[in-house]
Amino acid sequence: MDAFHGQRVTVMGLGRFGGGVGVTRWLAARGAKVLVTDIEPAGKLQASIEAIQPLVDAGQVTLRLGEHRVEDFTGCDVVVANPAVPRPWENVYLQAAEKAGAKITTEIGLSVSRLDPSRLVCITGSAGKSTTSALIAHILQRAGERVRLGGNIGGSLLETGSAEEAEGRVGTGGTPVPRGGEGKTASPWTVLELSSFQLYWLGREMGGPKPRVACVTNIADNHLDWHVTFEHYVQSKQVILAGQALGSHAVLGENVREWATAPGVTRRVIAADAKVGTLAIPGSHNQRNAAMACAAVAALGVSGLSESKAAALAADYPGLPHRLQLVARVRGVACYNDSKATTPEATLLAVRALHESGVRVHLIAGGYDKHADLSSVAALAREGVRLYTIGATGPVIAASAGGKATECGTLEVAVRAAVNAAREGEALLLSPACASWDQFSNYEERGEQFAALVRGHGA
Ligand code: ADP
Repeated sequence: MDAFHGQRVTVMGLGRFGGGVGVTRWLAARGAKVLVTDIEPAGKLQASIEAIQPLVDAGQVTLRLGEHRVEDFTGCDVVVANPAVPRPWENVYLQAAEKAGAKITTEIGLSVSRLDPSRLVCITGSAGKSTTSALIAHILQRAGERVRLGGNIGGSLLETGSAEEAEGRVGTGGTPVPRGGEGKTASPWTVLELSSFQLYWLGREMGGPKPRVACVTNIADNHLDWHVTFEHYVQSKQVILAGQALGSHAVLGENVREWATAPGVTRRVIAADAKVGTLAIPGSHNQRNAAMACAAVAALGVSGLSESKAAALAADYPGLPHRLQLVARVRGVACYNDSKATTPEATLLAVRALHESGVRVHLIAGGYDKHADLSSVAALAREGVRLYTIGATGPVIAASAGGKATECGTLEVAVRAAVNAAREGEALLLSPACASWDQFSNYEERGEQFAALVRGHGA
């Protein structure tokens, strides 16, 4: 019988990224009596609640939303804490649980403890984690290997257990994706993106994930609200390198080149100006991410999968959804969906990345009015960017651009105008610098509409 059968488990933090849902379903399937508690009210957790509603209706899961109650933490056998809960070491509910004798764990701890470390690649860093992780998974899949992608990138790997592994499924957070290449008998590779919060917990629970290959992209001041000090943030990140077995590999970005590794670990540093050749994703930072991904893949020792072969397989990686993602080429115009860019800074980065490759940019920007200063976006129109504005902030941006922007109102009108104006070799970029809520339900819907519209023009 499963160790969780009949256990009273409190899941602290349902969240919106799939980890809370995954662990709740996994525990319920093992016969645990689960209480899910989140300080957010139900209205902010709709999709996650819908995903576990059948278990609530069946009486297997109880919800306590909009608050935490001490008795939910002292009257259980196990607490599964969401790694996003800040400063867990001083959290009154976790302290109460510990004092009452409850075991404290996390979804990521439960996942990693069930993985084979010799088939595990872990990635952390302040920026570039998701891209590097997704690139590694992409290259392995293109090479015909079975691979699962999970961790901080979203979803939960708990629900894709050995049965699915045996069937050779691959995907993100348990989403099955068709397998490429010939059949392989070994268990799949797991590519795990890890946040500093998750690493803190993995350090506490098991001394680190101890992967065959550990990657650290870079380090910068980040998440100090959670960690309090930069030293604590760095220490948490370094857990990825702790206790790696003899013969493992560490791939380190330039500004973490001094980080200590365990004895018998092969170290590799990726230079800040590292390049791999042609990529669908623009910018020197992505060249760096791809160089790290290729080094990581080559370190796995898959027959025939050298670093240069990995680079060739990385070339058609399209990017993460809604993040400077190449969604179509329309008559030689590369169309990028960067709908997730909801601040001027993010939009400027995207434009800069395309400029680095010498491409003229047709930019669609504007949206919900958060009263942010959008003058830096408008200023792009004076630097050779063709600007098409949409949404509530469209008129403001266009006015600030001093007649150098085209006020389009809707995404449909903007895409038509931009596709007609763009010449072969130029880029069309949706990077709105604003939230989407004035015209769309969310940034995903905005990005999907953009992709559908540009593809429509290509037909
Ligand atoms: P993360 O998962 O660490 O947040 P992503 O891969 O999602 O990182 O990239 C987020 C943003 O971080 C990108 O849009 C880009 O602006 C920036 N970025 C990505 N890779 C790097 C890198 N290697 N160095 C510096 N900045 C990067």
